[in-house]
Amino acid sequence: MTHRNAQSSDSADRAQPVLVLNAGSSSLKYQVVVPETGERQAGGTIERIGEQGSDVADHSAALEQMTDDLRSDGVDLHSASLRAVGHRVVHGGPDFSEPVVIDDAVLDRVRELSALAPLHNPAAVIGIEAARERFDVPHVAVFDTAFFSSLPPEASTYAVPRDLARRHSIRRYGFHGTSHQWVSHAAAELVGRPIGELRQVILHLGNGCSASAVRGGVAVDTSMGLTPLQGLVMGTRSGDVDPGLHAYLGREAGLSLDEVDTLLNKKSGVLGLSGVNDFRELEQRLSGGDVEARLAFDVAVHRLKHYVGAYLAILGGIDVLVFTAGIGENSIALRAAVTEGLEDLGIVIDRARNGARSKQARVISPDGSRVVVAVVPTNEELAIARQTAELVG
Ligand code: ADP
Repeated sequence: MTHRNAQSSDSADRAQPVLVLNAGSSSLKYQVVVPETGERQAGGTIERIGEQGSDVADHSAALEQMTDDLRSDGVDLHSASLRAVGHRVVHGGPDFSEPVVIDDAVLDRVRELSALAPLHNPAAVIGIEAARERFDVPHVAVFDTAFFSSLPPEASTYAVPRDLARRHSIRRYGFHGTSHQWVSHAAAELVGRPIGELRQVILHLGNGCSASAVRGGVAVDTSMGLTPLQGLVMGTRSGDVDPGLHAYLGREAGLSLDEVDTLLNKKSGVLGLSGVNDFRELEQRLSGGDVEARLAFDVAVHRLKHYVGAYLAILGGIDVLVFTAGIGENSIALRAAVTEGLEDLGIVIDRARNGARSKQARVISPDGSRVVVAVVPTNEELAIARQTAELVG
């Protein structure tokens, strides 16, 4: 199954684009982007790769399909027309704090890091292998963890025995880093101040949700951890629970560790509380007076306030609070609920500004507020395309 949309380009600028790939185990998301202008020439998703009854047998076939789809959308993708391929890789482990040009050694290391991201890294490796075979251009890995390699030890260290942590590379890594980094820069531009002098809290609220504390453009804390399960309440992930829950469920409900892992990653969060994981659907139920939807919303908001308060304390006050990603950019109700009652902390929003729909970065706090509250659209693909282009020159 494929979804795609092309954007016809009248631009005379035919600068060589970067192909941005995000390979999942059964899906491939792609975009063709000109890094300098941000022009998105085309993009789409190929789904059900390798599944029964699907025409797309594997990731090589998916790339073939992508190339065909792009050609019929007027984008002829081959090694000569392409500057580079940028791959989104979820876990860079302790090794990768920057994007890297992919060679065999890098690929081996990404493969070895699969223990830390068993759902994500193996798929990225397969996608990279297939793409390297097809496109004879530089390939770059951009890691979702990289922006958080700057976390100070007191934020990245779990209070478990040091030797065990060392042996198994246990620490807070954080995810959605490409988005948090992009949005922190875009927010600084929006408020017209140098990023170096800003203390920001960024709330990336999509299917996965994460918060970060950013001082002077450098990440100092984030809510996701060793895995993307920690922190905020998400579509299907619980976020924070008592770590004792795992043992309790093992003893009392007879669940295996893998079953607990699946339960907390796939069946919890907003889905587990309300029966739906899509936030738009949750909001529809809310307006119909559904009590389970109300609880799910309230738990998600409570957790968000918990992190906003924590990061305010860690940063010693904030200048900018930013909402981004599908829910953050679109949910008027959630933004209103998260900021409600925070006047004494300098956080206030203007009702009309919050209620106005827009695709642009915008301020939703009243003029002259102590804390600027902003909605800033994220653009991970363009961020990956730019980092890729920068690296390959
Ligand atoms: P992903 O993490 O997969 O990139 P997105 O950033 O696209 O996800 O966010 C998806 C979430 O955004 C879904 O829960 C979806 O319901 C929510 N969302 C999208 N549009 C709206 C809207 N208009 N109002 C409320 N929620 C929305």
